[in-house]
Amino acid sequence: MTATEELIASAEAHSAHNYHPLPLVVASAEGAWMTDVEGRRYLDMLAGYSALNFGHGNPRLIDAAKKQLDRVTLTSRAFHHDRFAEFCTRLAELCGKEMVLPMNTGAEAVETAVKTARKWGYRVKGVPDGRARIVVAGGNFHGRTTTVVSFSTDPEARADYGPYTPGFDIVPYGDLAALREAVTDDTVAVLLEPIQGEAGVLVPPAGYLPGVRELTRERDVLFIADEIQSGLGRTGRTFACEHEGVVPDVYLLGKALGGGVVPVSAVVADTDVLGVFRPGEHGSTFGGNPLACAVGLEVVAMLESGEFQQRATELGEHLHSELHLLVGTGKVTRVRGRGLWAGVDIDPAHGTGREISEKLMERGVLVKDTHGSTIRIAPPLVISKEDLDWGLDQLRSVLA
Ligand SMILES: *Cc1c(COP(=O)(O)O)cnc(C)c1O
Repeated sequence: MTATEELIASAEAHSAHNYHPLPLVVASAEGAWMTDVEGRRYLDMLAGYSALNFGHGNPRLIDAAKKQLDRVTLTSRAFHHDRFAEFCTRLAELCGKEMVLPMNTGAEAVETAVKTARKWGYRVKGVPDGRARIVVAGGNFHGRTTTVVSFSTDPEARADYGPYTPGFDIVPYGDLAALREAVTDDTVAVLLEPIQGEAGVLVPPAGYLPGVRELTRERDVLFIADEIQSGLGRTGRTFACEHEGVVPDVYLLGKALGGGVVPVSAVVADTDVLGVFRPGEHGSTFGGNPLACAVGLEVVAMLESGEFQQRATELGEHLHSELHLLVGTGKVTRVRGRGLWAGVDIDPAHGTGREISEKLMERGVLVKDTHGSTIRIAPPLVISKEDLDWGLDQLRSVLA
């Protein structure tokens, strides 16, 4: 057996099979490139589902983490620490909001938003106790906790995990009329991804997000934008909502906020929303820890310059124009996305998304399939144009 085969066999014997990874074993990584245990190099066109927007081992982020490792890494929120205030202040400023509630994973940010919306509904909006409802979209992906999978429409993600948390109404994504129908006096929030990532990088019809904004404002309902995958530069803007000139009441951030170094997530909103919490009513041992804040602060500083958003815009235009040429040849049936983010529907004659991903891996390019014959392309925003072109060459060869 090769080293790769041995490591995979042993992983399969001793870890739960809740993933089906591509058959390579990464040993190190830098920028947009990963190296496996056999010394083979691969171009990372997935970037940890946008957790690695700034690339592997980004020197600024690694430096910030190393400096913090030598000072203090964890205090718990029982005490103040000297990175907390600056992280929260600068992140709130980046979002144009007043307050931040830091957590760790994306799913925790979503859970926190559900609790925030319910508490806001009872305390501020005046919904009768126990009646608060949240409207979500079909095809959503908001994480893996029992409450979050309760409002998933993906049978794989949801089956066998009941009894499910009640209080959610599901409407088709992109359908404003259906959303209008679903909102009642008991609705406290509409929770949406401004672009649905796991569903295959689905961009809603133009005017949808502004329509959601208008409706939620009219009906005194919080608009919660899950920007965990779409946010922080991926689409060419700090937030995907910006493309439609929309400012939600609540931003949910995660993935890239931890710079690919540590898990960092946050709920960001104004005081009239996040101000509902009193001591003891919500929390997290690791949320807002010094290491997380040091890395998160550096991420915010990097986004403040706008250079990563600019790169995503420029490289994204190039990526999409190249992918559209493939639609012309009929090998690709559809391309969706924004910025350096694309869902590519391959003509099923060329194989499933998984088969395409495996063929790309053999050529040194790593992508992830989603449903059926769709692959998702989302390289780190630090990728060079030459490397991106090389990756696209490999895709063309696989489809030749
Ligand atoms: C990844 C993701 C989450 C969940 O984040 P975890 O850190 O995996 O818990 C939630 N929402 C969206 C849109 C995501 O892409």
